[in-house]
Amino acid sequence: MTIGEVRSSLEGETLGRQLYDCVADLYPICRSITGDGVRETLRRLQRLTPLTVHEVPSGAEAFDWTVPREWNVRDAYVKNSQGERVVDFRRSNLHVVNYSVPVRRRMSLAELRPHLFTLPDKADWIPYRTSYYAESWGFCLSQRQLDSLPDGEYEVCIDSSLAPGSLTYGECYLPGELTDEILISCHVCHPSLANDNLSGVAIAAYLGQALSRISRRHSFRLLFIPGTIGSITWLSRNEPMIPRIRHGLVLACLGDGGRFTYKKSRRGDAVIDRAAQHVLRQLGDHEVQEFSPYGYDERQFCSPGFNLPVGRLSRTPHGRFAEYHTSADDLDFVHPSQLADSFAACLAILEVLEGDRTYMSQNPKGEPQLGKRGLYHAIGGLAQASANEMAMLWLLNLSDGEHSLLDTAERSGCDFAIIRNAAAILCDFGLLKEVSM
Ligand code: ZN
Repeated sequence: MTIGEVRSSLEGETLGRQLYDCVADLYPICRSITGDGVRETLRRLQRLTPLTVHEVPSGAEAFDWTVPREWNVRDAYVKNSQGERVVDFRRSNLHVVNYSVPVRRRMSLAELRPHLFTLPDKADWIPYRTSYYAESWGFCLSQRQLDSLPDGEYEVCIDSSLAPGSLTYGECYLPGELTDEILISCHVCHPSLANDNLSGVAIAAYLGQALSRISRRHSFRLLFIPGTIGSITWLSRNEPMIPRIRHGLVLACLGDGGRFTYKKSRRGDAVIDRAAQHVLRQLGDHEVQEFSPYGYDERQFCSPGFNLPVGRLSRTPHGRFAEYHTSADDLDFVHPSQLADSFAACLAILEVLEGDRTYMSQNPKGEPQLGKRGLYHAIGGLAQASANEMAMLWLLNLSDGEHSLLDTAERSGCDFAIIRNAAAILCDFGLLKEVSM
């Protein structure tokens, strides 16, 4: 089975439900850049895709960075004078500032206030905050919750630990005919946030599952890593094989209702950039962003010492939806059908990367006579016939050993899958011959 066959056999409703169930299963887990939440997440993903879990000890050097101490949290709360939990980690793991150092104290509201974070404009939402690289502690709560707290004494507890341990990441390597690799990466460090980035995690896991079951030309490597420190750590430990990465895609924020956004690699004209743009054009309304050194792990893969051809696929980009990094990025914010469409878009992009070939016309002087070979209306129904004929004519014209199927798809405006299918037929009739690049 090939990627194209997988894509055409997709049953959107079932797939959307599976992706959504994966998001919902992982949603309650309190993740961070290290700790048991990431381990539990990867353990559950191992049911879906063949994943190896790596542990890199705290203190390990990774270029200019150091793997931090491992953070775990068991409980956290603020109790009022009646002993009631007015802020409760058990209700939402966003309530505790991620990477808070342990604290157990009684204090006045005035003393507590500098440690409380709200979103005044969104009175019911809890913000998501982190403090990875500065030792501090805090609570996030809704403005409405804060406004309801009377002056008085509060009992504050964060039952966390910040201790030598390790950074955990997951890697799924699927060898193909070629050692050339396609890299797919997603971040697994956010607690209960659905779109950012359990959407990307679920899609990457199901891509791993689908890719593990098909015949592959490229080798595939899927990374499930904590943002920034995870990709830097992975790059630092895998430097010798990095030149094998020929194409790469970072997956983030793929479950919301917005149109697709593709962020180009730093190179800007890599095959992945062209393949993604071609697919999104075929799918309809979308946005293309130029590379910038801000965002997700594409910043590390595209740092100048690597300059890898890695782009990013999202729907509404981070920071451009109000729910971003708040409790409103919840299970209602992502939808099965949007997850399924995002998965299909990823597969279509991978299908281009896997299927791109270059051919030489065996009849370059004048058009070959298609009619006498029965090639007019040879494929599909009448509606498709003209698209297929145009695809054949473009292929016969551009197949001079210099233009690939993707070049032909881009220039003709025909869907890559139609171009590829037509090329296979022309090969069968001896009119095209593949050239090894
Ligand atoms: Zn984020």
